[in-house]
Amino acid sequence: MSPFDLTGRVAVITGGNGGIGLGMALGMAEAGAAIVVVGRDGEKNRSAVGEIEATGAAAHAVVADITSEADCAAMVAAAKDRFGRLDILVNNAGINIRKQPEDYTAAEWQSVIDINLTGAFIGSQAAYPAMVAAGGGKIINIGSMLSIFGASFAVAYAASKGGIVQMTKGLASAWAKDNIQVNAVLPGWIDTDLTRRGRREIDGLHDRVIARTPAARWGAPQDMAGIGVFLASPASDFVTGAAIPVDGGYSIQI
Ligand code: NDP
Repeated sequence: MSPFDLTGRVAVITGGNGGIGLGMALGMAEAGAAIVVVGRDGEKNRSAVGEIEATGAAAHAVVADITSEADCAAMVAAAKDRFGRLDILVNNAGINIRKQPEDYTAAEWQSVIDINLTGAFIGSQAAYPAMVAAGGGKIINIGSMLSIFGASFAVAYAASKGGIVQMTKGLASAWAKDNIQVNAVLPGWIDTDLTRRGRREIDGLHDRVIARTPAARWGAPQDMAGIGVFLASPASDFVTGAAIPVDGGYSIQI
């Protein structure tokens, strides 16, 4: 059997209704997993389930806000009710508020931290008992180039994404005894709703990214499928606590 085979595995993907989350969902579905898509927008959820089912995989959607512990419990319960188990959690839901640090309200700062960092933590806590019951599991946290670098226009986002890397190491250390591997993916610049907004708001961003990226292009959501399958599958059973850039080389040169 291929070490990348996900037949019989069940994945919950927060923010799986578009962008990077849907790119990973489609990759895992092609590899055999059943997918639970989590997002706040029921219409986007339905459309993503349709796309995933078109690959022949099983999919289910849950309307949930990952800043709510009750909603995180509900997304795990939905995976167990619909598919009987939970093996894989992708903590991918995220937002950015782009402005200079002196212009943030405390509420704006808090909302970025709540969704990007606290949401990933309480989602992982919710998934933990189900993964222990399944004999192990895989948690994939989505960081960013701003887990490594700073940006004047994204201080809260960078704080949350730096936190993702450190949280990943802590969870990986704690739950290795339970055969749960926890890793982070640090995407480069990927063409999604989030960065389409960024390109409107930041002059010259589109061209700067291409000029600095050795691969000389923006990434696409499907560029995230391979790393998702790897980190969700037995192929990565001895990989834990890592933060893996998938960035066309953006982070390797000045
Ligand atoms: P999108 O805006 O396309 O996706 C964000 C997703 O998060 C949406 O599906 C949204 O669904 C969901 N979401 C947001 N808030 C919540 C919430 N409170 N509860 C549940 N779901 C929520 O952006 P991307 O695909 O680009 O981003 C995905 C992740 O990748 C983010 O963590 C982002 O920071 C990260 N990233 C993106 C990069 C890029 O270049 N695009 C680069 C590096 C990291 P809904 O609106 O239905 O709630």
